[in-house]
Amino acid sequence: MQGIQSLSDLEVRSRNVLVRVDFNVPLRPDSEERTSDGDIEISDDTRMRAALPTIEALVAQSARVILISHLGRPKGQADPALSLEPVAKHLASLLPAGEVLFAEDCIGENARLVVDNLRDGQVAMLENLRFYSEEEANDEAFAKQLRGLAEVYVNDAFGTVHRAHASVAALPRLFESRGAGLLLTDELRALSTLRDNPAKPYVALLGGAKVSDKIGVIERLLTQVDDLLVGGAMANTFLAAQGKPMGRSLVESEKLPLARSILQKAQDQGVDLVLPQDLVVAEDPKAADGTVCASGAVPDDRMALDIGPKTIADYAQRCALAATVFWNGPMGLFEAKPFARGTQQLAGQLADGRGYRVIGGGDSVAAVQQAGLADRFSHVSTGGGASLEWIEGKRLPGVEALRYVID
Ligand code: ADP
Ligand code: MG
Repeated sequence: MQGIQSLSDLEVRSRNVLVRVDFNVPLRPDSEERTSDGDIEISDDTRMRAALPTIEALVAQSARVILISHLGRPKGQADPALSLEPVAKHLASLLPAGEVLFAEDCIGENARLVVDNLRDGQVAMLENLRFYSEEEANDEAFAKQLRGLAEVYVNDAFGTVHRAHASVAALPRLFESRGAGLLLTDELRALSTLRDNPAKPYVALLGGAKVSDKIGVIERLLTQVDDLLVGGAMANTFLAAQGKPMGRSLVESEKLPLARSILQKAQDQGVDLVLPQDLVVAEDPKAADGTVCASGAVPDDRMALDIGPKTIADYAQRCALAATVFWNGPMGLFEAKPFARGTQQLAGQLADGRGYRVIGGGDSVAAVQQAGLADRFSHVSTGGGASLEWIEGKRLPGVEALRYVID
């Protein structure tokens, strides 16, 4: 957190404080399925709850809190299906005061009016930033309009700090008084421990859909971990790279040379890159159940959709012996019950385990949350891409923009 002010460093009493939050929550029914203007529900409010400590701390200090966020991908124009209004309403139900004012625009007259009427300790939420294409374009003029609404800037949107968007990158630099919210501080602290100072033995558990999504972090982890345990569809590509038949499994065939070079690197660096010894296979993802086979024996007409029981036991054992475990990406197609066992059992094992256990990644975190195990991890990251990029050692635009440096 070098050169970055924390919430307690900022003078906020009776001042307008613009807080960038990540309230990009899943909605039900989602915007495409919606027919009439029936009730919109927030199907998972984890990201909102994660920002409550910062909002409540600012309210307690009599700040005038102005929340800004994006929601979905409205393509740079107003889209009522992606309004933040229901989100503001839900937020009100989470706050002690039970009230959140809403501005139907994030800039201009509308925003101005709501902001001017804010009293000390009140909270307002502005409409979706991505109703303007300028947000994703990191447009300076757009940032200046937002700047005009407040005297202090706080970033608490960890899930967004890896994106060079206006509210995250251009905007904070326009404020003399700027800093990190409690969530952002907490995330960076936890993930920096992994990046800079992990207690050994250090085991990483990687899964999910693709090798290509996570290549940067794999290469970084190879320089740090003792074991790299691979599951999910990612493992399919590595197994195929070893020449194993994978039937109809999801394999990134154009990434086979890359997978081979990673296997070679692991060997050169003395890292145990462990692949599943058995798999759960089925005809297709909708199958009512699967059968277990050795990882070299996937039939031509089957696809691997989960890790098998021997692999689960092996990975669980290795995690149990670790002082640090980082987990990203589910071990199988966990959305379908017959293929959720690998992910669920390892989640249970890690929840019961000791040591420093961190999980990041949208789908893997959702799996752990569904199992009700999230609070038994040392840290659950609210940012998938951002957590990976931080661990990889990249500079994140939203974090850099908070620093006081002469550049
Ligand atoms: P995260 O969001 O945790 O970073 P990813 O987005 O990389 O994870 O991958 C999650 C997706 O990968 C899930 O939708 C899951 O169903 C899918 N997946 C995992 N294993 C398999 C598999 N063996 N075959 C097909 N899909 C898989
Ligand atoms: Mg995902």
